[in-house]
Amino acid sequence: MLTLSKVFGEQNELVPFIASYKNELETVKVLHTLPAAKQQRFNELTHELLDSLDDVHDLKACAERSRSNREHGNAVYTKRSKTNESDRRESLLLACHLYTQAILQAENVHEELCLGYANRGMALQEFGLYKEAYDDCECALEYGYPQKLQHKLIMRQAHCAWQLGDVHKLSEHLSWLEQQQLNAGYVNQLEQLQQQLTKLQEQQSSEPKEELASEQVPSLLILGKNHKISAHSGIKGRHMVATQSIQSGDIIFKEQTACFVPLEPGLICQQCAASVLYAPIPCSQCHQRVVYCSRRCRQLNEQIHSYECAGYKKNLFTLLGVSHLALRMVLCYVQEWQTELVRGSSVQEKWKMLMDKARKCYDWSSASQGLLSLCMMSHLDKAASEELIYYALCANLLQVYLHKCTNFYEQLGVDAREDWDLLIAALILRCAGQLLCNGHVGDTILLRSQCHMMESKLWRAPFRLHLGQMHKFDSVALTTALNLPYLALCNHACAPSIRLHCDGRAVSCLAAKQIEADEEIFNCYTLDYRNSSCAMRQAQLQQTFKFRCKCINCTGSKPDEIFLSFNRYRCEFCAHIFVPSKQEEFKWWESESNLAIKCSKCQATQLFNWYGILRNTLEFCSEQQQRRKAYKAFEELDTWLLDYHSLKLHLAQQLIAACLTAKANGATFDDIDYKQLSRILDHLLAGVAAQHGADSMTYISHLTYLMDLAAFGKYKCSSEQLRAVRTAINYLPTDTKRIFVNYYNDFIEQRSAANGNANANANA
Ligand SMILES: [Zn+2]
Ligand SMILES: [Zn+2]
Ligand SMILES: [Zn+2]
Ligand SMILES: [Zn+2]
Repeated sequence: MLTLSKVFGEQNELVPFIASYKNELETVKVLHTLPAAKQQRFNELTHELLDSLDDVHDLKACAERSRSNREHGNAVYTKRSKTNESDRRESLLLACHLYTQAILQAENVHEELCLGYANRGMALQEFGLYKEAYDDCECALEYGYPQKLQHKLIMRQAHCAWQLGDVHKLSEHLSWLEQQQLNAGYVNQLEQLQQQLTKLQEQQSSEPKEELASEQVPSLLILGKNHKISAHSGIKGRHMVATQSIQSGDIIFKEQTACFVPLEPGLICQQCAASVLYAPIPCSQCHQRVVYCSRRCRQLNEQIHSYECAGYKKNLFTLLGVSHLALRMVLCYVQEWQTELVRGSSVQEKWKMLMDKARKCYDWSSASQGLLSLCMMSHLDKAASEELIYYALCANLLQVYLHKCTNFYEQLGVDAREDWDLLIAALILRCAGQLLCNGHVGDTILLRSQCHMMESKLWRAPFRLHLGQMHKFDSVALTTALNLPYLALCNHACAPSIRLHCDGRAVSCLAAKQIEADEEIFNCYTLDYRNSSCAMRQAQLQQTFKFRCKCINCTGSKPDEIFLSFNRYRCEFCAHIFVPSKQEEFKWWESESNLAIKCSKCQATQLFNWYGILRNTLEFCSEQQQRRKAYKAFEELDTWLLDYHSLKLHLAQQLIAACLTAKANGATFDDIDYKQLSRILDHLLAGVAAQHGADSMTYISHLTYLMDLAAFGKYKCSSEQLRAVRTAINYLPTDTKRIFVNYYNDFIEQRSAANGNANANANA
């Protein structure tokens, strides 16, 4: 099979060295104006690669796997307890999980899909996830659920619509059911639902109607009057300035993007970027690499996905990194840019008109996202020839893909093939160049990867965890790559003045500190000064962003002082205090290779025996004796790791997580356990706040430990700490926030109210 690197390698040989860069159009032209024989081979390679990436699955085997999961699910579902509520719930969740597997494995076999959805809908409804259950019934119908049984699904949908208070859908389904020949049991259900409909109608006619939010969301949702974009040309370029003093924690702006891609398949919805919590709805055409949180989202994404489905099926996009987001940019904004492109008579003229538009100045806070994106900076002109050719080959591949595998060109309504091939490839290349220095990666809190959402021990009810399960949401993952052209107007500093919080496609930009009027507002493009040395940052800034940072943290007399304070060791031989000398040595415990860390004074290689001892006990935290050993080993770290040493924080996190996991699996804790864990947690939270900030996702993920310990009633929270927890929860994306808020209200608020902390209720 051909691989991307092999094809790009051979194509690279055919392309001449690009000595001087003119623009994106001229660069892709090079790939289109090779000598005839070379050109032919070049084009063949692109087509051969696209053909060879076809990933054909054995549908019969898929159907069998799907069926076996569904049958397993059915067995669990049928045997569920009718008397013991918690056993029944566990069986329901397990059945849901198996049905989801059945749906994911069914590929595009409709018989399996429709049964998988129908059965999952049944289990979801019983668990109380009515929205998801409703959608599953709809999917089952879509994939051809047998006609003579359809009344079962419609009845279920009517029931869900009633639970959701959806009068319109409820009456629609009831009138359909009224036309059917039903047996006595169903007639009875129908009558009950008809009564519920009347009740709902009476209720809702007395309530004021809520305005439906419009589908078209502006790119800038909230725009405070606390800042402006200064358009000075010169070295600084466009930048953001505070027009009045802004308090730490205040929102500066909130930007919602039309253009993002998920970084990992299956985790988040392709349309709204929310975590797909309970019931993923996959596109059945592209090997489940694309999932949605609802049918509504699948429908809204339909057009964009029609251009990408074939690519997902070939698994083309993961190979291409930033160029995938560049393709998405073109798909999202090309109609807006087309106005210029159709006016010019030649390719050059078309391109020039668009670039003229990109160079002008606009009122940035009211400009459309397509326009803001068009005007973003790019440093392709400073890139080395091979880097430039690599991105040009990616753009070429994607353009040929669009032409060969999708109806993008027809939808765009353009002909004159060669012109548009050049223009589309040039646009993809341009977007890639812009994203290299302006793209943003969004993080979120997820369930740790060893668990799955339908794990039977997790939930007491939808969005309500069991006591002691909060710590399982302790992992922070990068989930999205987003185009945020308004945010991109901020310049870089190594101590940013803002903090970003993602909620699906929207990013809130908050002041990370007090910002004075007329002060410039800075983002940080790399790791900040607390988490990287000046040399590390400068290397990255130079390579990716093509500039040298001159912020106060880079030009001061001791630029690395704070970073190094998280990395100070005491030598095991001469007691000298030292920091590692090489970059790769800083987080040696994360690296695969065996690095020898040497004392800077006596040059002795450190043994780090204490590390092995503590690591070994982590696996056995279910045993009290081993936990005692671990607490002791942790205490002794103070001798070798100074202050809030990164490694000590890492081990504290590992130890607490291991103990809470052991407890969730049935280990019994005594007061010594709680006392020790509380002490270790205090150190961890204080350290993470110092290193990452108390409004960072890392900090919030560690608060899950505090929430569990507090919920057990074994961690003494001050009212100040509780307030901090509530504030932090507010930074979470809507879907995850719901889980945290419920946990807080169910287990912590009650305790703290009993302890005299009134008004501690968190808001959903
Ligand atoms: Zn969604
Ligand atoms: Zn698809
Ligand atoms: Zn700097
Ligand atoms: Zn030494």
